[in-house]
Amino acid sequence: MDNTIRTELEEELRELPVIQYAWVAKAEIPFSEKVRTICKEECPRYGKSWACPPGVGTVGECRAICDEFEGAFVFTTVAEVQDIMNMEETLATRDGHEEVTREIRDLFRKRSFRTLAMSGDSCAICPECAYPAGPCRHPDRMIPCIEGFGIVVPLLAQRAGIAFENGGGVVTWFGLILYGR
Ligand code: SF4
Repeated sequence: MDNTIRTELEEELRELPVIQYAWVAKAEIPFSEKVRTICKEECPRYGKSWACPPGVGTVGECRAICDEFEGAFVFTTVAEVQDIMNMEETLATRDGHEEVTREIRDLFRKRSFRTLAMSGDSCAICPECAYPAGPCRHPDRMIPCIEGFGIVVPLLAQRAGIAFENGGGVVTWFGLILYGR
């Protein structure tokens, strides 16, 4: 991406509640089958959404999809909660982050970039996901889960120089936008 476009994007990002961001090369995105194992064994959304595995494809297929893009932009937003161990309270802050993720994605799109946006959790747009009986009802709004693609978020954060956590009582949400022409 040329520096002029990057600077313009960074200026527009100042209007959004983004805490940290970084531009990363595709090769810096760490994939691992182990993440997929955690999804399968520990996440209640496994096998229940087009935004999660196995609906998103194998880790190899996810990696191949990411390889079709030119580069990546990683960022965080935060939300304060009373009790970070309370999943209901924590997940209630997801919608705000996903809205910011769509807004950032649209900054790329309006400059004619192809994009793939990902977020820190499964999709919850529909009360009940159409998976697997029918196709996703909102493919343009749906944002797949970063970990569901097999991406190791703590390592990605470290490589990008972005804090993985921001203290007690603060939920740190990650977003990832892959972009290309
Ligand atoms: S938009 Fe609806 S159908 Fe699509 S992944 Fe999300 S919950 Fe499932």
